[in-house]
Amino acid sequence: MMVKKDKMVKYEEAAEQRTNLKGWVCKVCGRYWGADERMARWCCSTDQPCETEGCTNRKTKHYIYCEKCTARKNAERDAARFDKAELVEDYDGPFFIDDTFYWDMESYIEDLEQEDYEPQELAYVPSKFCITLNADDIWNQAVECAELEEGYDADPNGWSEFQAAVEKFNQQNSEATFYEETYRKKFKLPLEYIQEELAEFAKETEEK
Ligand SMILES: [Zn+2]
Ligand SMILES: [Zn+2]
Repeated sequence: MMVKKDKMVKYEEAAEQRTNLKGWVCKVCGRYWGADERMARWCCSTDQPCETEGCTNRKTKHYIYCEKCTARKNAERDAARFDKAELVEDYDGPFFIDDTFYWDMESYIEDLEQEDYEPQELAYVPSKFCITLNADDIWNQAVECAELEEGYDADPNGWSEFQAAVEKFNQQNSEATFYEETYRKKFKLPLEYIQEELAEFAKETEEK
């Protein structure tokens, strides 16, 4: 029976006894799943087969794949994303590798010296953006926050000074850039230079 939204359903008429039910029932909580065998099995089970075809590993309820398949799929996704990124030539700005952000090559090299891992060949170029303020938006937001009665038409003092200040702020920040980790662009790291720096560092450490 389809019940229309808002239609009143009387308690006395809301149920009927059936004796001929056929279908899948969760053995743990007793929920009836009709023809849905998969959901009935999924319902309260805590140990389930991995959903990769041919994989015989087990997984817990809230994962689709076993640990191994999940790691493989993540690596495949990362590699595909990296392949898709556009290669930028002669890039010389901040960058990031595996979610670690570097302001410049020097800080990356320092990291390599400390951690002793091999330098990467490529890194992601973050997106740049700058923030512009809008005097009206700031004021409207303040009015909204004050929860004034509707229709309130405020006329603040010093409005033109405030506008001028916002304008000046925008001018002074037009060059200020913020960076966001996006995966659209990549560039080649100067491997030769990095290796030279690392070799020099190794030599210096030896001498000490
Ligand atoms: Zn259940
Ligand atoms: Zn698996």
